[in-house]
Amino acid sequence: MAKIIPFPASTRPSPPPDMGLDAFAPDQDGLGEWVRETFLDEDGPLFNERHAHLREAPIGWLWTTAVATNHDRQVAGQCKLVGPMSSKWSSAMAHFQLRQWFGYVPDILITISALHARQADDWAFCALIEHELYHVGQATDMYDMPRFNRDGYPILEMRAHDVEEFTDVVARYGAQATGVADMVRVANNGPTVGEARMRLACGTCMTARRA
Ligand SMILES: [Zn+2]
Repeated sequence: MAKIIPFPASTRPSPPPDMGLDAFAPDQDGLGEWVRETFLDEDGPLFNERHAHLREAPIGWLWTTAVATNHDRQVAGQCKLVGPMSSKWSSAMAHFQLRQWFGYVPDILITISALHARQADDWAFCALIEHELYHVGQATDMYDMPRFNRDGYPILEMRAHDVEEFTDVVARYGAQATGVADMVRVANNGPTVGEARMRLACGTCMTARRA
């Protein structure tokens, strides 16, 4: 039997209403707080212990109205780690831009399509958010033990999605919300096929696949 998870009572945050075309805007509606309260806090309604290493991680949430596509599907979200500033203008420029947006330089930058968010239902939105969170894992040492920095915080690294992650998201939200319902119905070998379909909507997955 599938476990029934109650949906968060709080209203989910929305992109700024006055964004122009091809614009990027840092979240001002509490998306980061909502994600923390919903998925990362132990008493959160959709708490997932697999994201434990992100509990205190600085995440910058960005909305965009710019359209990116892959195989005729709109990219809905993208996740990246922000590296330390190097002695290149491009790096300094990126850090400057992040400070302008967030007031500091976050460790993780997650960009969500405002166009997608405005038409996505709650489950699809939550599935997308978790999909992006799954892209950041905790580094492990040669004994497979989680690594921490000198200050005691988890060392983060990018993760491609594996089948385990995919089935986890589908188990939590259902095939409909993850956009794989028809694939699961037709193919019956859902996870692998469905994963490929899900990745089409994620810019980070697309980049990983090209590499
Ligand atoms: Zn992805």
